[in-house]
Amino acid sequence: MESDMSEATIIDGKATAAGLRAWIGEQIEQLSVKNGVKPGLAVVLVGEDPASQVYVRSKRKTAIQLGMNSFEHTLPADTDQATVLALVQQLNRDPKVHGILVQLPLPAHLDDKPVILAIDPLKDVDGLHPENAGRLMAGETGMVSCTPLGCQLLLRQQLGDMTGKDAVVIGRSLLFGKPMAQLLLAENCTVTTAHSRTADLVGHCRRADILVAAVGRAEMVKADWVKPGAVVIDVGINRLPGDGGKDRLVGDVDFEAVSKVASAITPVPGGVGPMTIACLMFNALRAARLQSGLSDVELPTQF
Ligand code: NAP
Repeated sequence: MESDMSEATIIDGKATAAGLRAWIGEQIEQLSVKNGVKPGLAVVLVGEDPASQVYVRSKRKTAIQLGMNSFEHTLPADTDQATVLALVQQLNRDPKVHGILVQLPLPAHLDDKPVILAIDPLKDVDGLHPENAGRLMAGETGMVSCTPLGCQLLLRQQLGDMTGKDAVVIGRSLLFGKPMAQLLLAENCTVTTAHSRTADLVGHCRRADILVAAVGRAEMVKADWVKPGAVVIDVGINRLPGDGGKDRLVGDVDFEAVSKVASAITPVPGGVGPMTIACLMFNALRAARLQSGLSDVELPTQF
């Protein structure tokens, strides 16, 4: 049967991430040959959270595949705050380490904030240090959180110039919502940041040319929240019970229904997710260049 509903373009984050990784691999090769620098990424994992273990393994594998040094520090779940801080200080001093990532969340007895503050801002590849957050806001060079950076790249590829577009970001976390809003502002969008206390969330979303959802609530964004022709970026990762007792991953957007209204949409999985690790590698490359006194590099749009 013919449908009068058009289907959105599926934004292929997996393919873009593969292109970005290949480009980073070439850059690392050149850095090693021309400058004798091998980027080093240290990942600190405290405890045995299974999801964090999967992320850390995947970061390590990608770093090694791209020709970086990978340093993994796994600490027991009952590690005290002073030990984590001492490890961060040691990594700050280590010239082979250009990027430090402390896998969050930390176990409940530890406080994230002093740990983030202890990371040298030049090595802060997650862009969480207040100095980097401030630099982003001030429009100055700094480390930018990986997932929003990945979303910016997907949007640039999809839309090119974003000047004058109405952008709505649902979520205001330090890791995603706030830096995403800053990046969209830098693209000359008119940006609204929505959150759990927003009045008339649906009304705000319906005005968006670019709608970015980073909430952590399965399929919250419905088709009638979306302006026809909008570009929808789904950052959410939610697990729902699937067939055969296996979990199924879904985003914060009702993909089936919204893809009939939007002009383009990221799927979950295969949209934003793969971009995060690729952008982490990009940040590690940048950090290595800057710490070696070399010129900065821009995130490419075409590979
Ligand atoms: P977070 O720190 O929990 O923030 C969630 C945000 O959503 C908060 O700002 C919260 O508002 C807002 N929110 C909660 N319920 C809401 C509602 N009913 N209506 C409107 N806003 C609501 O989460 P996060 O770290 O930003 O991550 C968000 C999602 O993205 C999660 O599913 C996470 O797994 C995913 N994620 C994916 C990647 C990736 O690589 N693909 C990376 C990072 C995050 P308040 O501030 O008012 O509480």
